[in-house]
Amino acid sequence: MANIVAIVGRPNVGKSTLFNRLTESRKAIVDDFSGVTRDRHYETAEWVGKKFTVVDTGGFVHGSDDIFEKAIRDQVLIAIEEASVIIFMVDVLTGITDLDMEIADLLRRTSKPVYVVANKVDHAKLHYDSSEFYAFGLGEVYNVSSVTGSGTGELLDTVVSHFPEPIEDEEEDPLPKITIVGRPNVGKSSMTNALLGEERNIVTDIAGTTRDTIKIHYNKFGHEFILIDTAGLRRKKKVSEDIEFYSVMRTIRALEDSDVVILMLDAQEGVEAQDINIFHLAEKNRKGVMIVVNKWDLIEKDHKTMKAFEAQIRERIAPFTDVPIIFTSVVEKQRIFKVVETAMEVYRNKTKKIPTSKLNEVMLDIIENYPPPALKGKYIKIKYATQLPGKTPMFAFFCNLPQYIKDPYKRFIENKLRENFGFTGVPIQIYFRQK
Ligand code: GDP
Ligand code: GDP
Repeated sequence: MANIVAIVGRPNVGKSTLFNRLTESRKAIVDDFSGVTRDRHYETAEWVGKKFTVVDTGGFVHGSDDIFEKAIRDQVLIAIEEASVIIFMVDVLTGITDLDMEIADLLRRTSKPVYVVANKVDHAKLHYDSSEFYAFGLGEVYNVSSVTGSGTGELLDTVVSHFPEPIEDEEEDPLPKITIVGRPNVGKSSMTNALLGEERNIVTDIAGTTRDTIKIHYNKFGHEFILIDTAGLRRKKKVSEDIEFYSVMRTIRALEDSDVVILMLDAQEGVEAQDINIFHLAEKNRKGVMIVVNKWDLIEKDHKTMKAFEAQIRERIAPFTDVPIIFTSVVEKQRIFKVVETAMEVYRNKTKKIPTSKLNEVMLDIIENYPPPALKGKYIKIKYATQLPGKTPMFAFFCNLPQYIKDPYKRFIENKLRENFGFTGVPIQIYFRQK
């Protein structure tokens, strides 16, 4: 099940500041003006080993003041429906406003866990001021300062208590789960139909025809998996913000539930910021990923076009570029089956276990020829490597001075693992540990 934490609240209470702190992203822009466009509204976070996705609902409200209230109401309703835990943020410096009260009214109706978080409690003396928020009737009030981070640990302890313990056993799900994600109109439903060989759902030119996530059991030509078809991300121009927010929530959920994510692009439009966000979300969630460039039939091309297109995509998704990119045309039935084969290959890569003897045989040789550079006159000796149990590839390299190994060497090791063992489409983790 997906672990999604939605931060709701009126503008300027500090939602995006908390979001940044929880996700440690410095990318979102925090501004004194509310409604400012931030570039990332959902991101993976981890606390005491539990992973979850944080959604900053403020990032989905754009435009003039008069649409604010309605948009915020809609978001709260969607958050109630789609999120697992809701953080209701208020501002201790301004106290309760009408809009706060309205939001509280909506939140009182849900049985999902809701936490009232009084933000901007930067000093101990403000602790007393936050007691007015008990008037919401939503239980305990958590005092935090998103700027200093105080109180956020306690809040997170409570929030993650709703999430299951991470499963560390090696047992895999019986069937791979594969999700097609992408912006509206790129061809997700058409691809699903083509794969199934029947009109599974009606495909039209109108963006947003398919709204719900569809799960299909695929079992043909020797491949068996669960295909999850999502509505994908919507363009702001065409639909209202609440719908964009809704489809983002859906995409996050589908993504968290799947093993391999097929990110579909429209060849005519290329890569957009939203695509990159989804890509990184998949990567951070340690999902298998592949990219499908659809509507290739509409591109005027020569023998260089594909290579150039591919290079452009790899540049945008760097540094994780060891990802399959396939050019398809659903209309001309080009390379559709290749998509299935590749998705299955990515899944095999993701679940691959390298025998310890083979791993050491190959890697220790490489390391011997190219050891980590000495630091402060100290030599680093890597003695032994092993793949750790888990749902995605993780490797431990045991050595005398793990703290002296820097990122470039780690990248070198990762590249060598990829070259020798084949982990295309799969994020891999490498740890250096004291032996
Ligand atoms: P959002 O609209 O709810 O996402 O609010 P923002 O995160 O953009 O924050 C609005 C303003 O409140 C910004 O100027 C922040 O710097 C400020 N702010 C956020 N958190 C805190 C806090 O813990 N203490 C103080 N003093 N200011 C904060
Ligand atoms: P979705 O919103 O991502 O599910 O996109 P749809 O599957 O609904 O496709 C949107 C539109 O693009 C429809 O009119 C499809 O017929 C069209 N389309 C899908 N794939 C292709 C393709 O490979 N080539 C061309 N020319 N059109 C396509």
